[in-house]
Amino acid sequence: MQLKDKVAFITGSASGIGKEIAIVYAREGAKIVIADLNKEAAEATAAELVAGGAQAIGVAVDVTREDQVDAAVEQAAAAFGGIDILISNAGIQIVHPVEEFTFADWKKMLAIHLDGAFLTTRACLKHMYAQGRGGTVIYMGSVHSKEASLLKAPYVTAKHGLIGLCKTVAKEGAKHNVRANVICPGFVRTPLVEKQIPEQARALGITEEEVIKNVMLKDTVDGEFTTVDDVAQTALFLASFPSNALTGQSIVVSHGWFMQ
Ligand code: NAD
Repeated sequence: MQLKDKVAFITGSASGIGKEIAIVYAREGAKIVIADLNKEAAEATAAELVAGGAQAIGVAVDVTREDQVDAAVEQAAAAFGGIDILISNAGIQIVHPVEEFTFADWKKMLAIHLDGAFLTTRACLKHMYAQGRGGTVIYMGSVHSKEASLLKAPYVTAKHGLIGLCKTVAKEGAKHNVRANVICPGFVRTPLVEKQIPEQARALGITEEEVIKNVMLKDTVDGEFTTVDDVAQTALFLASFPSNALTGQSIVVSHGWFMQ
């Protein structure tokens, strides 16, 4: 029970990586807030956790909306008596070459990944600072926080930007014993990636198998996808780490695709 009674607000946790973090954290005794755009899936995920004996609620929130984020964090803090852990994880992917990207899609990508991270951080930090019991902020970056790939200009831009936000929160949060770190996964087979495989195949004029082998996993040491559990175990390690020694860092979990 490494996270006994810690309150974790996890965005985008009705699916994929966020959902697995919620499952692992619940197993470790945390009280879970499933904060997701998809209300039905958020409530269903929370119900699954409750059925397994955890304390969890589902909250519908669009992380790009200031009013909704503030309201969701207030609701969560009221339900569980504060906020100890924020996982800023909600994200989408849109792929095009730069010259074909619409301004609307560029802004949508930056809004979800960067505005969402800022708004949830601000709302949760207010509680962490006021509570006086410290806290942990984890941003879901990507190997694309360190490295670029074809067709992903706003995603790469936003994921690099999260490192800047993280470092600032690490410095400002230190006196409140609040730590901030970024997890940078390689490709994980979630709905977000399943959608990209045919899109990239079309855009690059290659087969779906070639996208997996020659694009997504080309530079890994073993040709393997990263798993949701690989990422969730890293998130558990970061949230349960006992001191400020580990703050302002970005940890790559990618089967060696990117080596620091
Ligand atoms: P996913 O599609 O399985 O889940 C994303 C969740 O975010 C969904 O439940 C969706 O409803 C929610 N969401 C989308 N827009 C939202 C919004 N505006 N407000 C609130 N919730 C919203 O995706 P995933 O692969 O689990 O991705 C989670 C995070 O991990 C993303 O930030 C993604 O960039 C990052 N990531 C994923 C991979 C990968 O290979 N899958 C690799 C590196 C980083």
